[in-house]
Amino acid sequence: MKNDIVTLTIDDIGTNGEGIGKVDGYTLFVKDVVVGDIVKAKIIKEKKNYGYGKLLAIIKESKSRVVPKCAVAKQCGGCQIQQMNYQSQLQYKQNLVKANLEKIGGLKNIEVLPVIGMDTPYYYRNKAQYPVGIDKEGKIVIGFYAGRTHCIIDSTDCKIGSPINQTILENIRKYITEQKISIYDEESHQGILRHILIRNGYHTGEIMVCLVINGTALPCSEKLVQDLIGISGMTSIMLNINRDKTNVILGKECKTLWGQAYITDSICDITYEISPLSFFQINPVQTEKLYKKVLEFAQLTGKETVWDLYCGIGTISLLMATNAKKVYGVEVVSEAIEDARNNAKRNNFNNVEFFVGKAEVVVPQFYEEVSKKAMDDNKNKEAIQSLNPDVVVVDPPRKGCEDILLDVIVKMSPQRIVYVSCDCATLARDVKYLVSKGYEVKKVQPVDQFCHTVHIETVILLSKFQSKEQQSNQL
Ligand code: SAH
Repeated sequence: MKNDIVTLTIDDIGTNGEGIGKVDGYTLFVKDVVVGDIVKAKIIKEKKNYGYGKLLAIIKESKSRVVPKCAVAKQCGGCQIQQMNYQSQLQYKQNLVKANLEKIGGLKNIEVLPVIGMDTPYYYRNKAQYPVGIDKEGKIVIGFYAGRTHCIIDSTDCKIGSPINQTILENIRKYITEQKISIYDEESHQGILRHILIRNGYHTGEIMVCLVINGTALPCSEKLVQDLIGISGMTSIMLNINRDKTNVILGKECKTLWGQAYITDSICDITYEISPLSFFQINPVQTEKLYKKVLEFAQLTGKETVWDLYCGIGTISLLMATNAKKVYGVEVVSEAIEDARNNAKRNNFNNVEFFVGKAEVVVPQFYEEVSKKAMDDNKNKEAIQSLNPDVVVVDPPRKGCEDILLDVIVKMSPQRIVYVSCDCATLARDVKYLVSKGYEVKKVQPVDQFCHTVHIETVILLSKFQSKEQQSNQL
């Protein structure tokens, strides 16, 4: 009953990191707890089959409970499971991938390899976006949204961000105060400064600061530039124009205030240009481990044709191109493809080709057009090979791939599909589809790209199914 105070043992964790326990058979979700805690909670919301409880006290602490390193871990929406020790976080993620592949993916007794974790799971993010606001007392607040709200927690000392960000943000706070810069208000759509984006190059030490503004210019920006260029590594100071009434942080247009319009960083010894709007993996230490798995699963010998779908700025494409004959990359953000082409040139790759557009539009179109061409001119070896790749890599956003894309991949009939995913539920759904079309799951490797959060990256190797007979014929 609502407002009842109950005692329960937490025995599971939900998809948003909330604890799950039972009171006389009734399921209760409680935030800020870990599996094994015995807690006292007040029922604040009651539904027919489950309810939500507010944590009042921990009666007995679980062995996997730790004191979060971050002082605002509980209020901030960023790290949902910082109160869980790191080993338990990895175990939780491995279980989650397995559970989704079995329940949603319909795979039985699937082996999920232990999650590849970090040695030091802190200060790993190379990108952070801080909202700026004014609190009830009229004070400037820079920090993070409290979980599922637009209320800003003032905190520039994020334990998963780069330590230099605090210095940068305090400089910007001083500039805002001294120059009386107006702060954007979501309700009235008035005020200039909305967000601060900071990117850090892990190997290069280069820094980009990008201020997102509701306007076309930032008053007294030269003062800000003067303050920031003293910080070691500062490479790019930019403005991003976002005049829309929207939750989307970045607008389409960027202006350079000082320095370059991009920073550089490297992954597996390949150098990349990264502009404010480009997608770049946020955990550089883990990205190298993730990409090495992708490369291992692709099993390249130098002769292969590879498609890299959802290629961003071409990071996986170029890595593949180090040991493939030809790589095709597809990405919807045109600026990212511009970066990808520059990156290919910069690193002297001439065996990669990039296409702008939605993968589910570009690839089926390409397939149809080139099939016709290949039929007219059946000596066109490259066209024929492009339609029959050895490996297809997909790395979609959380919503996964559309069936129309998966269908054309199946038509292209690659020997191997390497699926990189940041959402193991949509991954499981897509894998189920591919399995129904003749592929089998060979390896499942989660990599912890997002330590202390409920998110998990997974790489899966799928191979074209071969019967025992086909296998022995090849021997
Ligand atoms: N493989 C890259 C990027 C992965 S993130 C890397 O490792 O860095 C997913 C990428 O898919 C983003 O760059 C996003 O812009 C792009 N994207 C989103 N929807 C898309 C679609 N329908 N077709 C092609 N690319 C898409």
